[in-house]
Amino acid sequence: MEERMSTSASCLEGHAALVAEAEALWKDYSLTSVREWKKESGGIAIGYMPVYVPRELLWAQNALPVGILGGGDDLEIIRGDAYYQSYICHIPRSTIELGLNGSLDCLDGVLFPATCDVIRNLSGMWKMQFPDKLVRYLDVPQDFDPAMGGAFYRHELQEITESLPGIGGRSYDEDALRTAIQVYNESRQAVADLYDLRRREPWKIPTHELYVLLRAGMVLPPEEHTTMLRAYETAVSDDESRRPMDQARVLITGSFCEQPPLGLIKTLERAGCYIVDDDFVQVHRWIVGDIPVDGDPLGNLVTAYLENSIESPIRYIDDGVKGQGLVERVEHYGAEGVLFCAPSFCDPALLDQPMAVKAVEDAGIPWTAFKYSENSGQFQVIREQAGTFADSIKLWSGE
Ligand code: SF4
Repeated sequence: MEERMSTSASCLEGHAALVAEAEALWKDYSLTSVREWKKESGGIAIGYMPVYVPRELLWAQNALPVGILGGGDDLEIIRGDAYYQSYICHIPRSTIELGLNGSLDCLDGVLFPATCDVIRNLSGMWKMQFPDKLVRYLDVPQDFDPAMGGAFYRHELQEITESLPGIGGRSYDEDALRTAIQVYNESRQAVADLYDLRRREPWKIPTHELYVLLRAGMVLPPEEHTTMLRAYETAVSDDESRRPMDQARVLITGSFCEQPPLGLIKTLERAGCYIVDDDFVQVHRWIVGDIPVDGDPLGNLVTAYLENSIESPIRYIDDGVKGQGLVERVEHYGAEGVLFCAPSFCDPALLDQPMAVKAVEDAGIPWTAFKYSENSGQFQVIREQAGTFADSIKLWSGE
């Protein structure tokens, strides 16, 4: 990465160079950096769909986890539409397109976590289209009793560890997993520190920059990504030219799977919003805090999933109150309003929304809602809506 960064830095300085580097990595849908990493390391690459997979497990067996978050607004869908009806979200179409056009052929396998029926169906299609590759549906527990959901999840994880050596990964080793857990603890902490800095001084970290950096983590080895995040944190902390503006502090929710186009994020910021919390590229923040490295590392991954996962529409909350976690995040991040911002036809996000809206309304928090597709190109209506929302917060907050 240093070589790549020095090339960028020759024409750009500091955080701008890092953001340009991150954006180039993200927008390279043919995964050149992953191909290079495989050549240099002799490792394998395993793709994963949103929202969460235990990347530590892959990294411990010399498998680079590669996040597949669709084709955004850059990809022309030629064959992908033929695989799906019109009334579902966009991400499976662009993912199939990337598979069929060869962009993902350096992946030795793909994990499809239990996010929704669309991703379950996509895993079946992948199996048929790419019979020579590892394809695994990762069924995550919706029962959080260690003896029930925990035992089930451990079995799922064990099956993944057993499947990797057959396609070129290393054999499972407890110490290697402990090391990988530590590597990802540092990665999670670097992300958490940036979110915390943005909470305190949102003018220092525009979300359209933070977002691009998070996307680079989909293809970079975790240590390199952490280095990039730390370098960006230092660069923006030192930048005195970024001054506060009179913007409304908003929290975005609903964008945990199919990602909004970067233009949408920029539009919200230009409309007068400081985004102080969001659920973009959720895999970085699914587990809260460190996972212990001592003891049984596989058990630690299981416990972290059961006990330290965030509240999400794709996670059963049993007797919990839907939306309560959202209200708590609003308080923690000092948000003045909530933007419900979900992909069109996203069942998990949109089925949860009425309950989340009720919780937000009961707490007296202003909100508004709109939908997007990863390839949306027109933002004028959203700009007007978000601008009006931000203005109303600034005008009437404190009454
Ligand atoms: S955007 Fe929503 S409906 Fe579509 S695959 Fe993701 S979680 Fe499922």
